[in-house]
Amino acid sequence: MIRALFDAGADLFRLNFSHGAHAEHANRFQVIRGIEAEVGRPIGILLDLQGPKLRLGRFKAGPVMLARGAPYRLDLDPGPGDSDRAPLPHAEIFAALERGSELLIDDGRVRLRVEDFGADFAETRVVVGGEVRDHKGVNVPGVMLPLSALTVKDRRDLEYGLSLGADWVAQSFVQRPEDVAELRDLVDGRASIMVKLEKPSALDHLEPIVELTDAVMVARGDLGVELPPERVPTAQKRIVQACRQAGKPVVVATHMLDSMIHAPVPTRAEASDVASAVYEGVDSVMLSAETAAGEYPLESVRMMDRIISQVESDPHYRTIIDANHPTPDSTRADAICSALRQVASIRPTAAIVTYTSSGFTAQRAARERPEAPILSLTPEMRTARRLALVWGVHAVLIDPPTADTDVPHVISEACRIAVREGFAHHDEALAIAAGIPFGTAGTTNLLHLARIVDESAVTGDAL
Ligand code: PEP
Repeated sequence: MIRALFDAGADLFRLNFSHGAHAEHANRFQVIRGIEAEVGRPIGILLDLQGPKLRLGRFKAGPVMLARGAPYRLDLDPGPGDSDRAPLPHAEIFAALERGSELLIDDGRVRLRVEDFGADFAETRVVVGGEVRDHKGVNVPGVMLPLSALTVKDRRDLEYGLSLGADWVAQSFVQRPEDVAELRDLVDGRASIMVKLEKPSALDHLEPIVELTDAVMVARGDLGVELPPERVPTAQKRIVQACRQAGKPVVVATHMLDSMIHAPVPTRAEASDVASAVYEGVDSVMLSAETAAGEYPLESVRMMDRIISQVESDPHYRTIIDANHPTPDSTRADAICSALRQVASIRPTAAIVTYTSSGFTAQRAARERPEAPILSLTPEMRTARRLALVWGVHAVLIDPPTADTDVPHVISEACRIAVREGFAHHDEALAIAAGIPFGTAGTTNLLHLARIVDESAVTGDAL
C-alpha cells in the first residue's frame, strides 16, 4: 500500500509516534527506504513526536456520562475516576488555571468551566456534556502551560527516529520560540525541524517561531480544538502567509478529506478545502486518518493529487500566487532565484534547474513560485529527501563535484537529467542556477540559459 500511495503522488510519509511501537516504525521506515531504492526517487520521512499531550487517568467502571450543568472535579488523586471526579495527573494544569478557564476533553466534545481550583484540584461545571473515559485527551485553550514541549517519551522517540535516519522531525504543541530552540539543540543538525502550530499561544509568537524552524505544519486537529472553528481559517491564512514570506515550507494538515475515511469520494466542501490551501500557496497538503486508518487510502491520495493538479493548471492560481509574491531578500541567492522566475515568465522554460547542496537555493527558488518546475540537483541524499516537502521541487541525486567539474559539465549534466526525468525535450529551454566554486554551500552566482539540441547535447547563452 505504501508503494501504491507513492505511485499515486505521495512525496513524504509521516511516522506518527503518538501511536505504535518502535519496532513498527522501524519496519515502516525500512519499507519506505526499500521503495525509494526500487523507484530511484528520494522519499521524505517525517518523525512526528507526540509532545505533551495531556490526558485524564483511568476510570473505575468504564465510561461516565457527564450532564450539562453538573459539577465535576478533576484532581491529582491517582484513584480511578467516577461520575463525581476523575484523575488528571498534570500538576502544571492546576498551576496555570484561572477561574473561568475551560478544560476541553476528547477533542472538545466535553467542555468544563473552572469555578474553583487549588494546587491539586479543579472544581468545574459541565458546559457541554458527554461521555468521558480512560486516557481521553485534555486541552486547556488560551492558557500558557509551564510545560516543556518535549516529554521523556519524545526524547526517547527522537533518538530512535534519528537513529533510523528520519529527514524531518515534527514538534507538537509548541507554545513559544524557546521550545523550538530546545529541540534544535537535541537534533543537532541530524534532521530538519517542522513546528506543528496547534496552540493559540504559539500564534502570539508566530514570526519568531517561523524564524527558528525549518518548516511549519498547520495542525488543524488540535488547533481546531483550542480555537473556535471560525478562527481556524484565518489562523491558517496568517500562518501560510508568514511562512511564504520567510520562504519556509508550510504544510496544511488534518480533516482535509475526512469523509474519505469511510467513503470513496470526498464531500465537495472537503475538495474545496484542499483546493483553498493550494490556492493559498502551501508547499504540501497532508492526509492523516484517511491513509493511516481509512477504508480508501489510495483513493484519498489520488483525489488529493487530482485536486492539486486541477488548481495548479487554473490561470486564476497563477494570478493569486503572483499577487502574493514575497519580496526577495538582498542576497545573491535571491537575486538569482528572482531572475530565474523572471526568465520562466518571459520565455517558455521547460524547467528551472538548481544546483544545491544544503537545499537552500532550491527553497529560495521555490519561494519565488516560478511558472516552471524546479529540478534540484544535489549530491546530498539528505537534502534530496528533505526537499520532498517543498513546493514544485523534483530533487535528483547527482555525483559530488570533482576538481574537473566546470561550467560546460554542469550545463550538460543539467540537460541530460532534465531529459532523463521527463522535464525537457528537443528544442526546449532550461534556466540553470549554480554556484562557483561548485559544491560549496552559499555560492549561488551563476545563471545560464540552455536549449536541448538533440536531447543529449546543449547550446546556451550565459545571462
Ligand atoms: C493535528 O493535530 O492536526 C495533527 C496533525 O497532529 P496529530 O496527528 O498528532 O494529532
